[in-house]
Amino acid sequence: RAKADGRAVYRFFERRMDEAVRRKQELKLGLRLACERDELELRFQPFVSIEHGHVTGFEALMRWRHPTLGMVSPAEFIPVAEESGLITRMGEWALRAACREASRWPEGLRVAVNLSPVQFRKPGLVRAVTVALEESGLAPGRLELEITESVLLGEEEANLQILQELRALGLRIALDDFGTGFSSLGYLLRFPFDKIKIDRAFVQGLPDREDAKAIVSAIARMGQGLGISITAEGVETAGQYASLKLKGCNEAQGFLFSPPVPAQEVGGLLERLRASGELAA
Ligand code: C2E
Ligand code: MG
Ligand code: MG
Ligand code: MG
Repeated sequence: RAKADGRAVYRFFERRMDEAVRRKQELKLGLRLACERDELELRFQPFVSIEHGHVTGFEALMRWRHPTLGMVSPAEFIPVAEESGLITRMGEWALRAACREASRWPEGLRVAVNLSPVQFRKPGLVRAVTVALEESGLAPGRLELEITESVLLGEEEANLQILQELRALGLRIALDDFGTGFSSLGYLLRFPFDKIKIDRAFVQGLPDREDAKAIVSAIARMGQGLGISITAEGVETAGQYASLKLKGCNEAQGFLFSPPVPAQEVGGLLERLRASGELAA
């Protein structure tokens, strides 16, 4: 009886594994065509200045509208794209599209683009960024590149060199998902980031959890000391926002303000947020 149960459980997992492998294979094949077929798109999520209450820029987040599977999350397709090497092409497309969109926004607004560690290590990244800026006419100071600590793992000297070259173009470098990787503080000594994004995991504990409050205020104070702007990710409630303000964080981003929206909704969103910002003030 137990043996029969065991076999059933085994078959169940075996089937689930098959499905996962098949889906991954399907995504891998589909991604190859996605770029050509215009199935990729960017959504834009605002970040706001906590001190002034206004929008300071938008993060570009990739979406894939698969012909049969529907919307596929980047959490699922980015790793597949990294494995197959397609991420380089996709990343270059995202850079160009994001800079092109941002060049149509009001002058003061920045655009943030995520870079994959795989894309980061390929030669030609600096060139691709230069092309995206030149083609769009976007002032380099309005572009922010978001990297996670995993970008810096491994060939550290070479990676720091690339960061310096990117920075020399006049753009800003942000450290994404701060607090979830390894040896974050060591990297802060070796590279002067312009911005640190506190991972959602810490923001979620606000405003009540003592441990989350202690960590967030330590990061905020560290940012002040180092002259690095601190952004909180995944802000969902007014209570979290008030707590971040109290701790001295500089910017906030999250569903409290808006989910990522299609490019054509950016203008309307700006108007809506301006009105609600004035109401709040
Ligand atoms: P990320 O760069 O840390 O982006 C933040 C993620 O949190 C986004 O998920 C965003 O939609 C989501 N988010 C924003 N506000 C909230 C909130 O208040 N609550 C919750 N629960 N979630 C919130 P998304 O768009 O699914 O992207 C996931 C990850 O995929 C990104 O994490 C980034 O690492 C990667 N990614 C997205 N677009 C690109 C891209 O163009 N290139 C690369 N290399 N990676 C990308
Ligand atoms: Mg990001
Ligand atoms: Mg993040
Ligand atoms: Mg993330």
